[in-house]
Amino acid sequence: METCIACSMPLMRPQDKGNDTEYGPICIHCTRPDGGMKSCKEIFEGGVAFFITTTGNADRKLAEKLVRKTMNDLSYWQNNPCPCLDGDTASDEEFAAATAKLQEHE
Ligand SMILES: [Zn+2]
Repeated sequence: METCIACSMPLMRPQDKGNDTEYGPICIHCTRPDGGMKSCKEIFEGGVAFFITTTGNADRKLAEKLVRKTMNDLSYWQNNPCPCLDGDTASDEEFAAATAKLQEHE
């Protein structure tokens, strides 16, 4: 299955995909109205909001660390580094706990 190169969201349905870029597909959440890719900061903030609402966990610091870990693992951001991805990242334990919570909500 394809995943978004910018946020790693699985593109399960055709309508989940926002566009194709020269690097690969991007999801609707990472696509601007003009079809381009949102900035790193916008995608980062979207991911933080997603983690806070989906896990019911209002800890913004933890959400930021989780999103940083997700995005820093993606080859797109390794090739296109952005200052908003510098900083603390979640530990594997924190990440596993958050992923388990996400799956409870699916
Ligand atoms: Zn995305």
